[in-house]
Amino acid sequence: MTTKTNILTDSFYRKHTYLRISLTERCNLRCTYCMPAEGSVLSPKEHIMTADEIYNIAKTFVKNGVTKIRLTGGEPLVRKDAISILEKLASLPVEIGITTNAVIVDKFIPTFKRLNIKLINVSLDSLDAGKFEQITRRNYFKKVYDNIILLVKEGFAVKLNAVLIKDFNDNEIINFIELTKNININIRFIEFMPFDGNQWNIKKMVSYQEIMAVVHDYFNNKNVIRLEDAQHDTSKNYKIKGYQGSFAIISSVTNPFCDSCNRLRLTANGHLKNCLFSATEQNLLSAYRKGDNVEHLIQKAIQGKFKVRGGMDTLQKLQEPKLHSKNRSMINIGG
Ligand code: SAM
Ligand code: SF4
Repeated sequence: MTTKTNILTDSFYRKHTYLRISLTERCNLRCTYCMPAEGSVLSPKEHIMTADEIYNIAKTFVKNGVTKIRLTGGEPLVRKDAISILEKLASLPVEIGITTNAVIVDKFIPTFKRLNIKLINVSLDSLDAGKFEQITRRNYFKKVYDNIILLVKEGFAVKLNAVLIKDFNDNEIINFIELTKNININIRFIEFMPFDGNQWNIKKMVSYQEIMAVVHDYFNNKNVIRLEDAQHDTSKNYKIKGYQGSFAIISSVTNPFCDSCNRLRLTANGHLKNCLFSATEQNLLSAYRKGDNVEHLIQKAIQGKFKVRGGMDTLQKLQEPKLHSKNRSMINIGG
């Protein structure tokens, strides 16, 4: 008798239980590190998954062991049928989270509450309105900041993602952490990552070590508390003694967390990426539309997953443009 292996378990015995689905390639911001300056080329509308296709493909993953789905983009909330997609996915036995730039998130609070969606990750890279505009190329700082405070007040579990870029916002590390003094929020500093067209250079990246050096320098060592990370957590978590919130570092560049990776990514045009850094994809949507066996393609994608960072297992490889620029821009992957 042969034992049936789970299609979501890869050749390194990593079980994939977390699916990130990008709802759209469109966005109401234009973050410089996320999309190329010339703008990103959008897939034709008919290549984008419909609400029913998202639901049916997601159902296949859930049937095979996915227990958590996070919606991302582009900006997931700019999709006109976002509420109906949320309603469909909320009917599945999974935990649902959203990653949003928060520009219009206030309009969705009643829907999130109705559907019991609690995990909201928000991106904010600067606490300075001018810098915010410089990085996002849009003037929405106040709206975003007020919405973050509103989400916390309304009882959501809010994580705030900040991508640190040298000589741009790395002087705001302490200001961000000070936000956690009176606000129950988790600030996550993300190491700047290379993608197609984002002008990445390792010299622009602020590393885990550098961030912690600033933290230890400012706060007395005994006040910096290392917290226990959740299973599969991509971040290393800390808090300052007596502060309400916490902070964390996502060190995908200097200290990847591939060993415990449980994530898969489905792009808005229905391609499965087995890793944020992988240059290969499986087109699940075409197969689904033809009535072909989608599970077979999912298994193929999982079996092809590299042990570390899409095969770029050293910092040297990650720095080679011909390797990392084979990957889509972040806006077309979904973070
Ligand atoms: N629009 C939503 C938002 O901004 O939260 C969701 C999509 S966005 C692509 C998801 C996350 O990817 C954001 O937190 C963003 O900061 C992060 N991101 C984009 N480009 C990045 C890069 N080059 N390095 C590190 N993080 C990046
Ligand atoms: Fe849009 Fe998010 Fe990318 Fe910024 S990081 S351009 S908000 S998708």
